[in-house]
Amino acid sequence: MLILVVNAGSSSLKYQVRDTSLPEAEQMLTSGLVENIGTDVPNHEVAFDIMSEKLEPVLAGRELQAVGHRVVQGAEKFTHPTLLTEEVVQQIDDLSPLAPLHNPAHAQGMRAAMHKWPSLPQVAIFDTAFHSTMPEEAWRYAIPYDLADKYSIRRYGFHGTSHEYVSHVAADMLGIARDEFNGIVAHLGNGASVTAVKGGKSVDTSMGYTPLAGLIMGTRSGDIDPSALTTILIREGIDGARLDTILNKESGLLALAGSNDMRKVVEAAQSGDERAQLALDMTSYRLMKYIGGYNLVVGGAQALIFTAGIGENSGDFRKLVLDRLGPLGIKYNEEENAKRS
Ligand code: ADP
Repeated sequence: MLILVVNAGSSSLKYQVRDTSLPEAEQMLTSGLVENIGTDVPNHEVAFDIMSEKLEPVLAGRELQAVGHRVVQGAEKFTHPTLLTEEVVQQIDDLSPLAPLHNPAHAQGMRAAMHKWPSLPQVAIFDTAFHSTMPEEAWRYAIPYDLADKYSIRRYGFHGTSHEYVSHVAADMLGIARDEFNGIVAHLGNGASVTAVKGGKSVDTSMGYTPLAGLIMGTRSGDIDPSALTTILIREGIDGARLDTILNKESGLLALAGSNDMRKVVEAAQSGDERAQLALDMTSYRLMKYIGGYNLVVGGAQALIFTAGIGENSGDFRKLVLDRLGPLGIKYNEEENAKRS
């Protein structure tokens, strides 16, 4: 099948065309990005037109057969890939209070794509869906039930498509049936999360109600005592939106080391920058704590999987984490680890 995969954000449209009849490594025929939606590009409809023009020479007369839309928040409503109808798009739009930066743009992208290709099947794939198997003891927060219910406040987890895909690949590589695989997945990009996979299913994950929770990330704080936030709110005299920006865009590695680019942080640490070293120590320490806890959650992991920009490419960061995991019986080949750097 010839499939167009899109990730419609508020200001950009990322896309790939994949030919699923080819071997996995050759499936991606093209990928690209339309930027500045809302400024240079007036709206998502125009962005889809621009993308279609770029696709024409690649498709060379072949017809697309389906469109896949990445959606950040599916909440409790969407636990599987879902064929789009106008009603489904409206329901995704209705989840916007839970993902104000993402779901409205996804819905606009879907409407534009359905307008452009009314006869093509279009499917929404949810970042949260893989985590819908978490037990209540993992997803519920210890706050009053009425507040949790009123605002649908619970752990949802994100990066689900990545966690699901790499745990399948790892199980296949190890010759373990996917539904018997127990492992820990560290998805370490600019956003980062770690997931406990038991019997092939997500049973816990570090991101929560939003992608702010858990690990120290490029620009996000990860876990922090909520009272620290009320103190900052009250004493700085700022509003919630500003606090949200501080925690999501001005914290993490950027706040600790002056850059959210792991390559720069590692280089700075290697040349003696103490704050950069501290940032690496804190980041790997936090991840170690999650891995140790999740090893118990899954009943003893058969594999620890690193993925995404940092996980795949930073042998230095993987080493920092792996060197802390001796008590779990983890040994690794330093030379092999350094190859993918
Ligand atoms: P996003 O969450 O934005 O999709 P990515 O998965 O692309 O993020 O990861 C971005 C992170 O990966 C950045 O911190 C970047 O520095 C890091 N990264 C990318 N390539 C390398 C590399 N070769 N070595 C170390 N870090 C890398």
